[in-house]
Amino acid sequence: MFHVKHRHFDVVVVGGGHAGTEAVLAAQRVGARAALVTHRFERLGEMSCNPAIGGLGKGHIVREIDALDGLMGRAADHAGIQYRLLNRRKGPAAQGPRLQADRARYRAAVQAVFRQERTQVIEGEVVDLLVRAGAVRGVVLSDGSEIAARAVVLTTGTFLRGVIHIGDQATPAGRAGDPAAARLGARLEALGLPLGRLKTGTPPRLDGRSIDWARVGVQPGDDTPEFLSFLTNQVAARQVSCGITHTSPAVHDLIRRNLERSALFGGHIEGVGPRYCPSIEDKVTRFADKDRHQVFLEPEGLTDFTVYPNGISTSLPAEVQEELVQAMEGLERARILRPGYAIEYDYVDPRALTAALGLKALRNLFLAGQINGTTGYEEAAGQGLVAGLNAATTASGEGEPVIFGREESLIGVMIDDLVTQGVTEPYRMFTSRAEFRLQLRADNADQRLTPLGLRLGCVSVARSRAFEEKMAKLDNARSRAKAIEFTPNEARMRGLEVNQDGARRNVLALFALPNMDRDRIRAAFPDLAAIDAPTLRQLEREAIYAPYLERQRAEVAQLRRDDEMTLPEGLDYAAMPGLSNELRGKLARIQPRTLAQAGRIEGMTPAALTLLLMRARRLR
Ligand code: FAD
Repeated sequence: MFHVKHRHFDVVVVGGGHAGTEAVLAAQRVGARAALVTHRFERLGEMSCNPAIGGLGKGHIVREIDALDGLMGRAADHAGIQYRLLNRRKGPAAQGPRLQADRARYRAAVQAVFRQERTQVIEGEVVDLLVRAGAVRGVVLSDGSEIAARAVVLTTGTFLRGVIHIGDQATPAGRAGDPAAARLGARLEALGLPLGRLKTGTPPRLDGRSIDWARVGVQPGDDTPEFLSFLTNQVAARQVSCGITHTSPAVHDLIRRNLERSALFGGHIEGVGPRYCPSIEDKVTRFADKDRHQVFLEPEGLTDFTVYPNGISTSLPAEVQEELVQAMEGLERARILRPGYAIEYDYVDPRALTAALGLKALRNLFLAGQINGTTGYEEAAGQGLVAGLNAATTASGEGEPVIFGREESLIGVMIDDLVTQGVTEPYRMFTSRAEFRLQLRADNADQRLTPLGLRLGCVSVARSRAFEEKMAKLDNARSRAKAIEFTPNEARMRGLEVNQDGARRNVLALFALPNMDRDRIRAAFPDLAAIDAPTLRQLEREAIYAPYLERQRAEVAQLRRDDEMTLPEGLDYAAMPGLSNELRGKLARIQPRTLAQAGRIEGMTPAALTLLLMRARRLR
């Protein structure tokens, strides 16, 4: 496994985090001879921060990765110790599957895949890139050895010139217990990559044996778990509850009194932090009118006493953290196993990338994950998958880049946002970022993307069979439900109230009615009993959105047409009359691939778009 059999690969992936593991596996699935170079094998599958996978927007991404046969969903289900479907009471488009993961089981599931003989993992630190004639040809390790590659994917997470902050103490590190990638950071700068600084933070870890569980609230999981992988059909581990406690005015006073001792507020950090995952210092200052914030006490594993207090990420000095924790109900005697900290690291402005996640200015180099300015395991893994597929395509010298459209996946929305808009703070996914969110649901990620996976050849035989069976069942069920027709009068006789307009309807139309009780529909039409429960649920979800999707079809078609209008590479925007200087600068930097992408550049005007359209037509 660690022994380097070859010194030449099609694809070399640097970094064994969530992006890197998906990247190397995806490259392999489409036939590339790929290797993963990472600091330590035993850290594969490490969750640097919270022990949870999925959530709003994030759960969608995991399902999309799974639809393309990626690893995250299956590893998460192996490790799931509490399942919760977020926004269960809202419509399916707003729901996000999430689970609490046993850290050790998650690592074990990821490492088991990499223990297979086929996957080459090389332990070491990459300090340099081999560059010849404007293209990357491989990597150099800290011991001076070289590994040649046709394409390289960098997924260095929070490690590039990473610095950990606790109070006024700053220590170079990639995360707690791991070294920073200092030399590689300097090399990327020397190569002219546009770098910036971002930051993120993590809470202290508590000893669960020192928590008074009787005095905190209980948050149980769902009775019926929503799995993250389409291939999972039963829970793999014992299920547990989480605890809930709160901060208080006393806790907030303590934080305010010590604000200048926080690395985040004391002027020690220049990077920008995640607005949607704020530190407790941030929350107390930004929401000064609130006198308490919820803190979830999340177990890190079934055989581990460590508890993750979700909601109090902090970089206050360790002694203040202890006081802060012990001022909360149920935590009066809580012991801190490891203090919280903030980490600051280099990222690459993602506008330097194409939608295939390749560097525009340096051929054969791809970037994925936190290095592109995102935050979160799921966002990293989704990019890893895309970069791995494209690195393999580049290495083979055959085939078109694999670009994910905004109308087909949240992964596509994320990548388009990154490469078109760049980031001003760590980017996290929300369904609200997608204009077609009603069709980009977690429940239909396989229907949207597994066909693409089959075309690309990155889907296993087992998944392909399971998918075909599911589709056949759905088709059958759809025809069966459509065939059950009734008049409004017949519906009334069966105890269902519909508009008495005389029009004949079928059962699918009933599912589309928002206030109609699903159980009553099933009771009124016993023929529906021939359809199994998961298939019927999926039909119901489809029916709810069918009228909206019909209306959106024209918009999607327009987007596809604009996406087909490609803009030539290297177009000289500086010489294009009629554009403002600001737009010229943006267009030159971003080099939009299509007219649709140009339209999403901040500040783009209809007049400027028309100019681009005319220019693109003339150059065809
Ligand atoms: P990582 O998971 O960081 O993995 C990087 C990998 O690359 C590591 O295995 C490392 O060993 C390897 N590596 C790096 N450089 C080299 C090199 N030169 N040579 C060889 N190997 C190398 N996310 C959230 O969503 N919410 C949060 O609140 C949050 N808080 C966080 C707090 C902290 C302190 C940290 C460290 C992370 C936090 N995250 C949070 C982010 C989350 O951990 C990352 O988004 C996610 O892990 C990124 O995945 P990645 O694959 O890009 O990188």
